[in-house]
Amino acid sequence: KARDPNQVEFHQAVQEVVESLAPYLLDNPKYLRMKILERLVEAERIIQFRVPWLDDQGNVQVNRGFRVEMNSAIGPYKGGLRFHPTVNLSIMKFLAFEQVFKNSLTSLPMGGGKGGSDFDPKDRSDQEVMRFCQSFMTELYRHIGPNTDIPAGDIGVGGREIGFLFGQYKRLRNEFTGVLTGKGIEWGGSLVRPEATGYGLVYFVGEMMKARQETLSGKVVAISGSGNVAQYAAQKVIDQGGKVVTLSDSAGFIHDPEGIDRDKLAFVFELKNIQRGRIREYAEKYGCYYQAGKRPWSVSCAVALPCATENEIHREDARLLLANGCQVVAEGANMPCTPEAVHEFLRAKILYAPGKAANAGGVAVSGLEMAQNNMRLNWTREEVDGRLQTIMKTIHEMCGKYGRQPDGWINYVNGANIGGFVKVATAMLAQGVV
Ligand code: NDP
Repeated sequence: KARDPNQVEFHQAVQEVVESLAPYLLDNPKYLRMKILERLVEAERIIQFRVPWLDDQGNVQVNRGFRVEMNSAIGPYKGGLRFHPTVNLSIMKFLAFEQVFKNSLTSLPMGGGKGGSDFDPKDRSDQEVMRFCQSFMTELYRHIGPNTDIPAGDIGVGGREIGFLFGQYKRLRNEFTGVLTGKGIEWGGSLVRPEATGYGLVYFVGEMMKARQETLSGKVVAISGSGNVAQYAAQKVIDQGGKVVTLSDSAGFIHDPEGIDRDKLAFVFELKNIQRGRIREYAEKYGCYYQAGKRPWSVSCAVALPCATENEIHREDARLLLANGCQVVAEGANMPCTPEAVHEFLRAKILYAPGKAANAGGVAVSGLEMAQNNMRLNWTREEVDGRLQTIMKTIHEMCGKYGRQPDGWINYVNGANIGGFVKVATAMLAQGVV
């Protein structure tokens, strides 16, 4: 904390991991002796750069770009790019740190990294987004590569942005390689990558509920966000017979007690991905409740899937969810629950899964996209989806291995942190002091 005094989000992420790991480290002093933890919290490399570009009026705009290359002990750096005005070094470092553990849990050979910019793609034309992406890649390209660092999407970076970034990388390097994941299916992408984080989240929830002989069928589910993760999580919940009653964006949330069915969800896909509109328009079209400036946690539900952004469930929200009967909380977003909220869930011993386990499906299928690119082959939808389900099941088993308590309840926070740590720490020990 003394070294980076203002990096609140990074400290929050590290503190959670250290609290989980402490007993394990005391039982395994070799990791302490070799200062594995001290090395894990120090990024291998941080790149920060200027991103100048011209807007549609011909004005010069200047943004800040980042890439945090956190840890490459088990594979090349891998993690998304986020374009959002709140992006700063603390957020980049927290996301990169979490990514190291998440990628390890997938059992695929991927190290951890994260990057992005404080650029806001909202209300920008396609041409402006393209010029920004080209400028961003004109610096980033020299630091990344298919065997070095393979970025993907995150908030504000979807198929459109990955396309512009890939086009510029290819032009600068004069080579067609799998340097980014989340590519279009026609040019090296993988089937099921767009769906992977949301689907993987719901597969993970299925594994959690299985232990209690329950399924999602007939359950009321509150989802926050209305972007990539939220949309596909909602789709899979509906497929499995659950009733999705909320969605949100940064301006407010909708509550549709009748449930968001397939037709209504199709409208959300069109609204958010094509028209780039606001979730308020859903309430206007279907005549349901909309509240500005609030998140959906006051709504009664059995399952809550926060899929928007960090720190969107606070202690009071957690208490409200519990009081209203919520029994399962699984994080589609990264660190959406504050430490105080997590504490409430753990104290109540409900089924609570942190993002590094529950939302690992996205990076897992990114890993599968890399494998397909290396083989210059495309797997079928069934093949990729089957592998995704197996990976989510394996992550769940790993959480059980390290997080199961004597009474049978699984502390998924401990399970994910220790499970993710062991492989990376073993590799770091083997590779010497580097
Ligand atoms: P999108 O940009 O597609 O969607 C983000 C959604 O969250 C939008 O509805 C957005 O609303 C809302 N949102 C963003 N910032 C805020 C904020 N500060 N306050 C309230 N709402 C906000 O991103 P994704 O769906 O890809 O990502 C969502 C979360 O999932 C992030 O935490 C991301 O790190 C995590 N994640 C994503 C993965 C992926 O594969 N995409 C993989 C693993 C984790 P608005 O439209 O108003 O901005």
